[in-house]
Amino acid sequence: MYPYLTYSDFLARRFDGKVQKIGVDAGFTCPNRDGTCGTGGCTFCDNRSFVPSYCRAGDGVGEQLRRGVAFFARKYPQMRFLAYFQAYSNTYAQPDVLRARYEEALAVEGVVGLVVATRPDCLPPDVVDLLAEFARRTFVQVEVGVETVHDRTLRLVNRGHDFACAVDAIRRLAGRGIAVGAHMILGLPGESPADMLDQARALAPLPIDTLKLHQLQVLRGTPMAALLAGRPELFHTFAPEEYAGLVLDYIDLLPQTVAFDRFVNVSPPALLARPGWGLKNHEFLAVLRNVAARRIHLMLQWTL
Ligand code: SF4
Repeated sequence: MYPYLTYSDFLARRFDGKVQKIGVDAGFTCPNRDGTCGTGGCTFCDNRSFVPSYCRAGDGVGEQLRRGVAFFARKYPQMRFLAYFQAYSNTYAQPDVLRARYEEALAVEGVVGLVVATRPDCLPPDVVDLLAEFARRTFVQVEVGVETVHDRTLRLVNRGHDFACAVDAIRRLAGRGIAVGAHMILGLPGESPADMLDQARALAPLPIDTLKLHQLQVLRGTPMAALLAGRPELFHTFAPEEYAGLVLDYIDLLPQTVAFDRFVNVSPPALLARPGWGLKNHEFLAVLRNVAARRIHLMLQWTL
């Protein structure tokens, strides 16, 4: 039992039985890479780190999902699945192309909904109309890459949109009955822990259902790695316990209706430009629990 809503709680309120996300690479690209809003991408981006190796766009959405379903169904025959459009920007195409990919996913036996990761500037009205149409017949969640609420940081990391764009996208999606997730990064260059908590304060009034947080991982070969090498003073380096304390404060600033998907990310060590903690989410949860217990212990001593 956690003192906050988990993503499993969020799903349990919508589905009977266990539901598992299966990541797919639908072969989309990103306007911050193809020159539409920028080139080179966000300075922290390396899609190798967040697309599972079993996702191969060339295999098609249906084939990738069928493989994933077969893997889980062997062990959990009752399990159902959400197609997680994860790689790049999964609303960055014409609505008829998007429709075909989403329909292909929903046609796979056992798939009961869509989770669509995208940038906030890739949600024009006709795409939101399409997502709303799907949301009327099945579960649809859009995971919006907000990353931070500070425009100076968004500029520094070459994100190509500002926070106002994310606020607008979140409000438009929620207003159409679409579940909204936000993706945030803690530890971006130039942000102090106080700046990171300001993220939570700015998100708190928004209609967000789920939140995915993770610590900044600087990946080899990215512009972010070059910045780290040249200007290390811009980066706040966390020990896991300090990060856990920040996460507890972050949770505390958000409404209790927000479900937390995860708090850490683990990239392969070979990709990292500086050593990571190597903690998986469940291992980090043990650290989080210890830090929370220490705070409670201190508070009790104070009041005795
Ligand atoms: S928007 Fe996403 S895919 Fe595009 S460059 Fe940024 S992190 Fe990478």
